[in-house]
Amino acid sequence: MCDQHETTPSSPPTRGLGRRTLIRGAGGLLVAGGAATATAQSAFAATSQNGWPAGTSSQVPLSSLAVGAATFPSGVRTGDVYTVLRYVAVQFNSTVEALYSPGCWGHNYREISGSTTLSNHSSGTAIDCNAPDHPLGASGTFTSGQVAAIRTILNRCNGVVRWGGDYSGRKDEMHFEINVPPGDSRLPALAASLGGGGGGTPPPSSWSVVRKGDSGYRVSAVQHLLRQRGYSLSADGIFGSGTESTVKSFQSSRGLTADGIVGTNTWNALIVTVQQGSQGEAVYGVQKCLTGKGFSTTADGIFGSGTDSKVRSFQSSRSLVVDGIVGSDTWQALTA
Ligand SMILES: [Zn+2]
Repeated sequence: MCDQHETTPSSPPTRGLGRRTLIRGAGGLLVAGGAATATAQSAFAATSQNGWPAGTSSQVPLSSLAVGAATFPSGVRTGDVYTVLRYVAVQFNSTVEALYSPGCWGHNYREISGSTTLSNHSSGTAIDCNAPDHPLGASGTFTSGQVAAIRTILNRCNGVVRWGGDYSGRKDEMHFEINVPPGDSRLPALAASLGGGGGGTPPPSSWSVVRKGDSGYRVSAVQHLLRQRGYSLSADGIFGSGTESTVKSFQSSRGLTADGIVGTNTWNALIVTVQQGSQGEAVYGVQKCLTGKGFSTTADGIFGSGTDSKVRSFQSSRSLVVDGIVGSDTWQALTA
C-alpha cells in the first residue's frame, strides 16, 4: 500500500493524538499504546488531511468494497464516499487495468510517513489500486492510454476525486482520494449522479444511447468529440457507417467493446470538459447541443461569454450546478 500522501506545505490539521501515545504496529499501522480512554476519544476527533474524521476501523463507519478480483481491506467510508470510490474502482477495473488482490487497500489508520498528518486512508476516504505495479514515488507506471482512461474517470468525478499521480511532489500513482471536505455539496451531487445510496449498486446508465441510423445534435456531439480526439470524419449529424466504424476504432483504442454503439462507457471516454476560453471541436458539440435543447447558440467552436451564458441557463434549467463548466453531468444532460 502507499504510505504517503502529498505532504501539505501548510500546517497540518489539528490532531488530538500526540505522537508519544503512538507505537507502530507490525503492519505499519498506528495504534494507541497504553493510551487512556480520553486519548482514544481525542483520536476519534482527529481529521485526515482532507478534513474527514479519522480513526480506527471500529471508529470510522466502513463498508467493505470488492471490485473485480480485488477487495480493499478494510473497506471505505460508508455513504457517498463509498459510492464515489466504488465508481472509481469499477471504472479503473474495466477501463484502466484489472484489479487484483492483494494489492488494493482502503481504510488504514496511519500517518503520512515523514509527517504528523493523518493519511486520508485513516478516514476511509482513499483507495490504492494494484499497489505492486504502481509503487509510491514512481511516475510513468501507466501507459498514456491508461492515463487517458484515468483522466476520464477523474473528469466524471468533477474534481471530487484526486489522483496521487497528480501530486505536485512525490507521485503516488496507485492512490485515489476524496478531495473535498465533509459537507461539500459536490460530493452528494456526484454520488447521486452515480446512483447514490452508498449501497453498492452499480451506477445506472443515464446517458442516451446513440447508434447507426440516428441523426441530430446528439450525433453531432459524438462526431465533434471524435474529431476532438483526432479522428477524421464529417460532423454532419448523421450516424452512418462511417461514423459507426470511427466509433468502433475509438472504442478499440480504449479497450471498450467495439460495437459502434455510443452508450455510457463510450460517452465517458469521449467527453472533454470545456468552459469559457475553450476552443475547438468539443465546443462545437456543446453549441449544437445547446441549440438542440432550445438554447440557441452560434456554432463557431469558440466558448465565449455568449456560450457561457447559454450553458449557465441550461444548467439552471436542469437543476445542475451552475458553473458554466461542461463536465460529465452537463454533457449528459445536453445529450439526453
Ligand atoms: Zn494511498
